[in-house]
Formats: sequence, structure tokens, C-alpha cells
Amino acid sequence: MTVFRGVPAVHTLLEHPSVAPYESLVGRDALRATIAAELDRVRARRVEEPLEMVAQRVAERCESLASHALVRAINATGTLLHTNLGRAPLAPASFEAAREVSEGYSNLEYDLRAGERGSRYERTNALLTELTGAQDALVVNNCAAAVLLIVDTFARDAEVIVSRNQLVEIGGGFRLPDVLARSGARLVEVGTTNKVYLRDFEAALSPRTALLLRSHRSNFSLDGFVCDVAGAELAGLGKRACVTVVEDLGSGALVDLRAYGLPYERTVQDAVADGVGLVAFSGDKLLGGPQAGIIVGERALIARLRGNPLVRALRVDKVTLGLLARTLALHRTDASRAEIPFYRMLGASCDELRERAHAYERAIPAARTIDTESYVGGGTLPHARIASIGVLLSTQHADVLAAELRRARVPIVGRTLEAGVLLDLRTVAPHEDHLVIAALERIDA
Ligand SMILES: *Cc1c(COP(=O)(O)O)cnc(C)c1O
Repeated sequence: MTVFRGVPAVHTLLEHPSVAPYESLVGRDALRATIAAELDRVRARRVEEPLEMVAQRVAERCESLASHALVRAINATGTLLHTNLGRAPLAPASFEAAREVSEGYSNLEYDLRAGERGSRYERTNALLTELTGAQDALVVNNCAAAVLLIVDTFARDAEVIVSRNQLVEIGGGFRLPDVLARSGARLVEVGTTNKVYLRDFEAALSPRTALLLRSHRSNFSLDGFVCDVAGAELAGLGKRACVTVVEDLGSGALVDLRAYGLPYERTVQDAVADGVGLVAFSGDKLLGGPQAGIIVGERALIARLRGNPLVRALRVDKVTLGLLARTLALHRTDASRAEIPFYRMLGASCDELRERAHAYERAIPAARTIDTESYVGGGTLPHARIASIGVLLSTQHADVLAAELRRARVPIVGRTLEAGVLLDLRTVAPHEDHLVIAALERIDA
């Protein structure tokens, strides 16, 4: 056995080519701690080990550390709102706003004019009422929380009437019937899977009816022999019967998506104009902002929601409010909305994407420009297709190439096909092209 002469110096390992690349991934402190832990192990064994071997072990430790970290990734799947990849990317302007109010102190709950306690939600509420035409608004943690809060406030030990064609399970196991049951509400189903009429709702009304609930189908659609009750019709019935009508819109568009070549999607403004009492939607779907649940509607109803102690438990932090306020402000004009990544991606022309694809072709021998289709995703517009341009990397081992791309310094997630890996350029930001091309060159794709 060789004599133990000690361990390599920390700085030698920090600069070692197998270790150094991890600094940007796990941070210098974590990298130093990882090296220290590995050197402790070597010291404890008192067995001389070659530098290469120690460096390799450090790299392995870093690899497992990095796989637990939340890291940036490049979405080349073509699904714009990819829930697994963080749903809506945020506009740089909204991020700057959030940074400014959260790095130091802010007037979060302080009225600067009066010099006394103010309302946490005042600014976002002003924007929400301006943009949607609603009387008042409330922001909570996400849309699931918004629905929970509404049902808990209005329908404890009471009945909620829902059409059988809208009893949806959205992602993450959020099932409307279960949420109702959890709040102590009794679900009254009306209609059939394909057809529901206003008279079905009318016949189900009773003195115990607390809410008429409409839900967006989100991730499925019905066609064929179908009949539905329009939001305005249900709102009319609610007014006549003095029952609150609630609509869980889910996606929450503030703009008519036909302007972007997509099918019509009911907007928040449409629901408010139809006379729906409370409208709930997500902050990170078609709004293109941070995770949040937004409720807009009649003043008296929102006031009752505010009185529920759950509001405190479901409240959002200053970072979210900063991000949300600026995202909402960007929705004021079409020009500023284009700063929101979701709308920028939606608005990119195929010519523009094709030009970028040609740059890939020039750099990567296996790359071929092809026509493809992008999806909105995020449980919205399940059938909408957007013409797009992709780069196909032909290979017989698509799984292997896809895995290598996921291991790139900035991981890249593409679409694995039989013919190879497809990178849809609509969801890759133009400033990310050089990273993808560099990764492909390194992999020798
Ligand atoms: C997506 C969705 C939700 C949940 O929204 P989160 O903000 O993710 O909680 C609730 N209802 C409907 C109809 C949805 O589409």
C-alpha cells in the first residue's frame, strides 16, 4: 500500500476541467462544500487516490446536486404554456418591477400619502377592474385556490349546481367534484355528458342552492350532438332566482385570441359583461404572468370573499404582486402586450422562424428545417394548432440524442420523434439559439 501523503488542494480541484463547469450550475459555495466533503472522505480512508479519480467523484457529487436544483431550461417542445417547464415565461419588465419591490422595502401594505397602513391588493385591483370591467377583484395563490375560496365562502352545507359536461379534472388531480366535497358543499349535477339546457338548471334550483357554477373544460372538448348553456343565459337565471353565478375560466384571456390566429376563447371581459357574478382565472396561463389565482366580479361578492379567513392562508407575496401588476399593465395595449413572452411567441411569423432555422442548418450538418405545429398547452385550447417551423435532427437514436440535449449546460427539451429530435423554434427564444447551436456542436449531432 502506498503511503498517504494528503489530499489535493481545493483550488486544484476548483480549476480542474471535470469540476470547473459545475461552478455555474451549483454555485461556488456549494462547489467548495462538495469538494471539502470529498476530501474528507479521502482523508478518512488514508488511501492515496489519483487527482483524476477525486475530480471524477466531485463531478458525480455535483451532478446529483445539480439535478436537485431548479435550473433554467430551453423549451423546444413547441408547447407554449408547458406546465412541467414552468408554464408562462415572464416579461423582463415584470421581473424588474418585482425585483425593485422585493430587494428592499416597499409600500406593500402602506399608504404613502396618508402615512398609515394600506391595502396589499390596491394596485393590482385597480388594474384588474380597469382591464376587465369588473367592480372589484381579489388575488390568491392560484386558480385552484380561487375556486376553493369561492366554494368555501358561499356554499358550505349548501348546494352547487354544475353541468355534467363540465365536471372536469384539470392537471395535478384537481377535480371539481372533490373540491366541492372538501368544502362541505353538495354537488347537484344537471344535464347529460353531451347536452344540458337552461331548464335543467332551473329544475334543480332549491332553497338550498348557493351557487350556479360554470367551469371551462380546459383540457378536453365536446363535439357532435351537443348543447350547452351560454354564460349570459346562466347569469340571467341567477339574477331571476337570486343565486350567485360563478365561472371558473381557468385560462383567463384578456384579449380575443382570434387576433393571433387562434380560435375564439372566452375572455374575462366577456364573462363579466355577461353578468357572471364571480369569474376566476389563472395568472400564468393566457395572462402570461406569475402563478396566481384571480377573482373578479361584483363588489358585494368580493367583499364576502375578503371576509373569509382562508384569504389570509391563500395570500400571495410581494414578488408575485410585483410581477402581476406589471404583467397586467402590459396588457393595456397590443404593443406592450407583445413584450409578454407568450404573446411574443404567438406573434412570431413562420418566415422569421424559418430564417432562424436556416442558421441551425448552416451550423449543424444533421439539421433540417421542417414545417411543424405548436400548441398553446397549459390546459387551454386543447385543439388549437399554430403553424410553426422546427429543426429536425435526424438520427436513428432519437432517445439518446434527446437525453444528451437534456444534459446540456442549459438543458434543452425537444420533441422525440421516430426520425429524430424535433426542436420547435417558436418556443425557443431567439437569444437562446446560440446556446442550442453550441450544445448541438458539442454533442456532434
Ligand atoms: C388551469 C385551471 C385551473 C387551475 O389553475 P391553477 O392556477 O393552475 O391553479 C382551475 N380551473 C380551470 C378550469 C383551469 O383550466
